[in-house]
Formats: sequence, C-alpha cells, structure tokens
Amino acid sequence: MPDATHPQTAIHHLIGGTTVESTSGRTSPVFNPATGEQTATLHLATVDEVDAAIENAKAAAADWRHVSIARRTKLMYAFRNLVEANAGELAKKLSAEHGKVESDALGEVARGIENIEFACGIADQLKGSYNESAATGVDVYSVRQPLGVVAGITPFNFPVMVPLWMIPNAVATGNAFILKPSEKDPSAPMFLAELFHEAGFPPGVLNVVNGDKVSVDRLLEHPDVKAASFVGSTPIAKYIYETGSANGKRVQALGGAKNHMIVMPDADIDLAADAAVSAAYGSAGERCMAISVAVAVGDVADPLVDAIRARMEKLTIGAGDDPASEMGPLITREARDRVAGYVGAGADAGATVVVDGRDASFDNDGFFLGVSLIDHVTTDMSVYTDEIFGPVLCVVRVDSYDEGVQLIADNPWGNGAAIFTRDGGTARRFQDEADAGMVGINVPIPVPVGYHSFGGWKDSLFGDTTMYGPEGVRFYTRGKVLTSRWPDPSESQVDLGFPKNS
Ligand code: NAD
Repeated sequence: MPDATHPQTAIHHLIGGTTVESTSGRTSPVFNPATGEQTATLHLATVDEVDAAIENAKAAAADWRHVSIARRTKLMYAFRNLVEANAGELAKKLSAEHGKVESDALGEVARGIENIEFACGIADQLKGSYNESAATGVDVYSVRQPLGVVAGITPFNFPVMVPLWMIPNAVATGNAFILKPSEKDPSAPMFLAELFHEAGFPPGVLNVVNGDKVSVDRLLEHPDVKAASFVGSTPIAKYIYETGSANGKRVQALGGAKNHMIVMPDADIDLAADAAVSAAYGSAGERCMAISVAVAVGDVADPLVDAIRARMEKLTIGAGDDPASEMGPLITREARDRVAGYVGAGADAGATVVVDGRDASFDNDGFFLGVSLIDHVTTDMSVYTDEIFGPVLCVVRVDSYDEGVQLIADNPWGNGAAIFTRDGGTARRFQDEADAGMVGINVPIPVPVGYHSFGGWKDSLFGDTTMYGPEGVRFYTRGKVLTSRWPDPSESQVDLGFPKNS
C-alpha cells in the first residue's frame, strides 16, 4: 500500500483488485509540500497497461450490471462506512501530499461521503417510468441502463472528494469505473480504492491507472470506454471534451474558475470579511470555488479592505499536520513561484498590494507562500484575467450593483458567484441575474450538497451534464424506452381458460 510517510514509496496501478507494477520506466515525483521533500515515486502507465485496465473493467462490467440493486446498495453502504471509519487516515494521506490542513482534508472526506450516501439511494434514482395503455393493450415504459466502462480523470486539489463525485454514481448504476488520479497526490485516491475493494465490490469494478497525458489520451480514444468525466483546468477540460467527443464518447468536463463575491454597501462587513478570508485563503486558494475577486460596491470598499486585512494578520500558516495551522503550502514549488509572480505583476500593473504574501518568511523548504490582498485591481490586469489558483484575493471597486453583475457576465468563467447584502430584493435579483452555475447569497462557497448536482457555466463546464447527484446518474446511464403489446387473454386463439369476449 502506498504510504506517504515512507520516502521513495513506489506507487503503481490497481487493476482487478491487485497492484499491477508499471513497466514504463517513466515516473513522476510526489512531494510533501510542507517539507519540500520527495516522499514517493509515481510510475506512469503505458498504453498497454491502460488497455489491460480497460479489458479487465469490461469483463467486470458485463457481470456487475446484472448484480441486483439490493446487493449494489449493500456494498455501497459498506464502502460508506469504511470511508467514514478511515476518514482520519485518508485525511492524513491527503494532507501529506496536497498540503491542505488536516481539518480541511477531513471536510473534503465528509463531502465525498455525501456522494456515497446519495448512491446508497440508487434504487430510487433508477425507478424509471411507466405508462399503462398508451394504446389498447400497449404499455410504454422507460428504463435507464449502464454504459459499460467509464473513466474519470481528476485534479490534484480534491484527491478524495472529486473521485467520489464520480465513482459512487457510476458504480451504483452498474458501470465499471477507471480512475486516473492526479499524479501530484495519488496516495489518498489509492487508499480510497483499497477501501472500495475491502467493502466487497468485485475486482475490476474500480481500477486505478496512474499516469499522465499518455494514459488520458488512451482512455479518450479506446472504443470500450463509453464516457469520460473530467475535473481540472479549463484548457485541459476543453481538450478532454473535444477529444472524447470526437471519439464518440459522452464527456462531462469541469474546468477552472474565477469566482466573484459582490459586497453591497448594506452588507454585514464582519460576515463578508470572514467569508472572503476563508473562501480566498482556505486550502491556499487551491479550490475551484475559492473567491478570487471581491467586488466592492460604493463606499463599502475601504471598511471591507480594512476588515479583510485585519483578519489576514491573524492567519496561521504552517504544515497541514500541525493543528494550529489554518492554511498550508501550495502543491509544488512551481505553483508557489507562479502565484508569487502574479502578485508582482499586479503591483507592476498599478494595483495596490495591501498585503504582500511574498513578504512572509518560512523557516523550511516547504512550498509556502503568505496570503496576498490586492486592491484597485482593474479588468485588464493579469491578476484579474487569469486563474491564479493560490492565496491571492483581488478587490475590484465598482459604483453599482449593475456594474458588479456585469463583471461576472463579462468573465469567461462561470463556476460560482456570491453576493453579500442584507436586502432580500437585491439578493433575489442576483440569484436571477448572476451568470454562473452556482450562486451564493451571504454564502461565499456555494457548493451544492450531494443530492443536487455540481457544475459551472461558460468556460467552467464543457458538456451539458454537471457532476454528481441526479445529473451524475443521468450521465452514467442511457435511456431505453420499451413498448409492449399483450392482447387480452380472452382474445387468444389458444384456450387459456378465460371466458371469450362476445
Ligand atoms: P490539470 O488540468 O492540470 O490536471 C487535471 C487532470 O488532467 C490530471 O489528472 C492531469 O494528470 C491531467 N492532465 C494534465 N495535463 C494533461 C494533458 N495535457 N492531457 C491530458 N491530461 C492532462 O488541473 P490541476 O492542476 O490538477 O487542478 C487544478 C485545476 O482544476 C484548476 O484550474 C481548478 O479550477 C480546476 N478544478 C475545477 C473544479 C470544478 O469543479 N470546476 C474542481 C476542482 C478543480
């Protein structure tokens, strides 16, 4: 079992319920971002290894789809309980390779469990529908059937939760699933897959292939993979959508984000500042639902910036396994340097760097960066136009609500948007007018629960189905409509014992 606490642990694939060693000779280092040390080596799959995983999954899917809903549900409950019982261990592994603080990692596991719980109720989702007597003696009914083998390609920032956005619904609906996790933090998803097998699911119903573009491209072109779910950055999401679709697959590809939070002049400043700080800097800003832009309307700007700055000074940054830490390091040295570069670019472009995260010093080699607050940002600056994906909050000052809503509409991304106001009428207008897939009213990270579905608009989603919840079930199944005709037995030529109609 891969263990992030042992340096140079080799991580391979999990196919047919057992570890399969890669022969590619190609590897990718896995780091502990809090120390900067390499803790494991990930072995990247060859095309043949991906093919072997697909073939194994195809054989498993043929049987799995006929396993009763009752049995599938029982196994899903067992999986749910094992994940809950091992939540602490999962969170530790996750934090050791991602860097997020363990309390946040535990929150991620909890959100993942919600998706397993939704799949425990799959019987209700698969009920189908029935019309009696559509014509005389004719009934019409609809059922949903699994696709076969489906694949998921996931990002580094939620190595447990995002696979759980996909696996429970895909498997509960009767498919076999192949997971290609991020190469940056693979140990937690590998452990998750082990728990899945421990729950009693048949081998091959979930295979994990570790790899890079070679594996992803093979999954996208192989004819036996019927659908691909992707979560990651916008350029790759677009590529996955176009390549998968061109190969005749169903694709749902969730991309990047630049989430705005409008703060109205009547907002509760303390509530808004608390929300901005936790949503911008939690998990070092490496969340697709992080707030990147606070849009300050009118004279709320000065008190809002002051309140955010005051809270930033109290933030404790440190290793994820230190209970005192509120924010951990970034995922890689390169990510840290890239984000720091944006702060410099903001200053060079004429924005006011209120708090400069580059000034923070850390006495170790971890990939740490302090938190930054940049005021007077304009829409032509790279800190505004690009997804920074780090602990940087920009403040854009506008004169009116309309200007704020227009900023959101003009932004290419549309994952989430929030408003802070005490006025119900303004909130109601915003929920109607916000050009984003997930909207928060006095809630900065409006992530839907497991029984609604998750996904943005515009460049945050390629494909027409969002992830998990009811839309997830729809994505992993295809509809079949049956029409049956059974003449009344009294009209039968054979004597079935019914009185003949006269
Ligand atoms: P990424 O796009 O770099 O990688 C995601 C996955 O794609 C990984 O498994 C990776 O191995 C694979 N990949 C990378 N380059 C590839 C290529 N050229 N061809 C084929 N596959 C490739 O994303 P990341 O850095 O791991 O994650 C951060 C990004 O994910 C951010 O942009 C963030 O906003 C986004 N994200 C979005 C959501 C959402 O719900 N919309 C959720 C989480 C993260």
